Amino acid sequence: MMVTKGSTTAVNLRGLLFIEPRRPEQGPPVIDSLTRRMAAAMQHAVPGTWQGGHFNSSDGWMGWHTCACGATSDNHDYLLANGMVTNSLCVHYLAQHRLDVPQDELRKVLALPYEEAQPTWEQLHPKKLCKTATGWRFE
Ligand SMILES: [Zn+2]
Repeated sequence: MMVTKGSTTAVNLRGLLFIEPRRPEQGPPVIDSLTRRMAAAMQHAVPGTWQGGHFNSSDGWMGWHTCACGATSDNHDYLLANGMVTNSLCVHYLAQHRLDVPQDELRKVLALPYEEAQPTWEQLHPKKLCKTATGWRFE
């Protein structure tokens, strides 16, 4: 599937790793074959928004998603070449919240048609929204 900038694609898109971990992040990040496969997939992902079955690659959301640990997503969904749509926290979920990733999602990651890649520092350490005495700020 080819996706070009600004196009809207209506194919049979499926969500990947739209999860809400409940536990705080684990200790050191888990960087195994699953995490690396997801990182490789993200190198080729197209940012946009996924809504009502359509993916609009020229679009972004007005807000972001916040993980249980405070890590925040960016304002895009990401379209992968196999028709799956994920979010910018996907690598973070696999690396730091593996115990909260359902088996079904792990199977989808295993089936991604990509080799493996080293996750980026940003993927492993997303910006966190923290409450301070004066309000909320990013760390
Ligand atoms: Zn998190």
